[in-house]
Amino acid sequence: GSTIGILGGGQLGRMLSVAASRLGFKTCIYEPGADCPASHVANHHIQADYDDTKALERFANSVDVITYEFENIPTTALDILETLRPIHPGREALRISQDRLTEKTFLQDLGLQIAPFAPVDDADSLAQAIDTIGTPSILKTRRFGYDGKGQARLTSPADASKALTDLQGAPAVLEGFVDFTAEISVIAARGTDGRVAAFDPGQNVHQDGILRTTTVPAPLPNRTLTDAVLTAGRILNALDYVGVLGVEFFVTPAGLLINEIAPRVHNSGHWTQNGCMTDQFEQHIRAVAGWPLGDGSRHSDIRMENLIGDEMDRVPSLAADPTCALHLYGKSDTKPGRKMGHANFLTPQT
Ligand code: ATP
Ligand code: MG
Ligand code: MG
Repeated sequence: GSTIGILGGGQLGRMLSVAASRLGFKTCIYEPGADCPASHVANHHIQADYDDTKALERFANSVDVITYEFENIPTTALDILETLRPIHPGREALRISQDRLTEKTFLQDLGLQIAPFAPVDDADSLAQAIDTIGTPSILKTRRFGYDGKGQARLTSPADASKALTDLQGAPAVLEGFVDFTAEISVIAARGTDGRVAAFDPGQNVHQDGILRTTTVPAPLPNRTLTDAVLTAGRILNALDYVGVLGVEFFVTPAGLLINEIAPRVHNSGHWTQNGCMTDQFEQHIRAVAGWPLGDGSRHSDIRMENLIGDEMDRVPSLAADPTCALHLYGKSDTKPGRKMGHANFLTPQT
């Protein structure tokens, strides 16, 4: 049997491992942390840092193909790994999605609609950006942001210096605030043969920058949902992508704007675990292993709720709820804002 190497040992790596194992693959996790969610279910865990050349080589040599659960893999590590084994999704998808400015430029060059943006490196460039984009707007770090971290909102130009201080001088982009009517995302996949499949778009609700719920079907016009799926397909093809990609959209009266893309399985695709014959994790494993993509038809209506921080208190009652499928990540310490698990609530498809 072959072995799939996964960079990153969080819950996404864990659920990828479970899916891989169900298809008969072995998995090897590369993760600096000791007691990580994926290490509990993977066949092997190489616990080492991303600057450990020997460990990276040992990892690559012990697997047949490499994938990842997060996009911030250091370039130096990729340089070593890619000489030894194929990495899916490929280098270009990572390069683009590691940096919001590169990503926005890429999407704009594809002719896709995004919020107005401008690069910000210091007080002068922020003042310039505010001149063109105005307020309200959001200053976001170019790199490493997730769950709304590394972002500062500007309600007026007077908030400029506070926003710069909040981001501690990190290279950033200023983004126009979008008065959206809804947020949706598309989880789509592309195989090594170039075939594309997409799950139904889900409607997302965020709170304090963190995803709270995803609902399918999204209660939106078909043209909006179709546009979202086709847009995701354009991105997959432009990147010659292999694997699952998440695309987040703002729905506005004028049409869709892309918020951001993620070159991996995505929190807003967790509903597929109980809503589809092939879920996003299996779909990703199929793609990176060179299998045909599975069928992502939806057989149920679902609301996914994240269990964040002390919401683990809800587990006993959720466990007794016959409409709820529970997914817990095996994290021992609860911290505010930490994703501990999720619950998929099912109703028969209408
Ligand atoms: P993720 O965990 O999804 O990677 P992130 O840290 O990259 O999150 P974003 O997706 O940029 O953060 O923003 C998080 C949420 O904040 C969005 O889903 C949306 O609800 C809100 N938001 C972000 N940018 C804007 C904007 N330009 N206008 C309005 N709301 C926004
Ligand atoms: Mg993001
Ligand atoms: Mg996001």
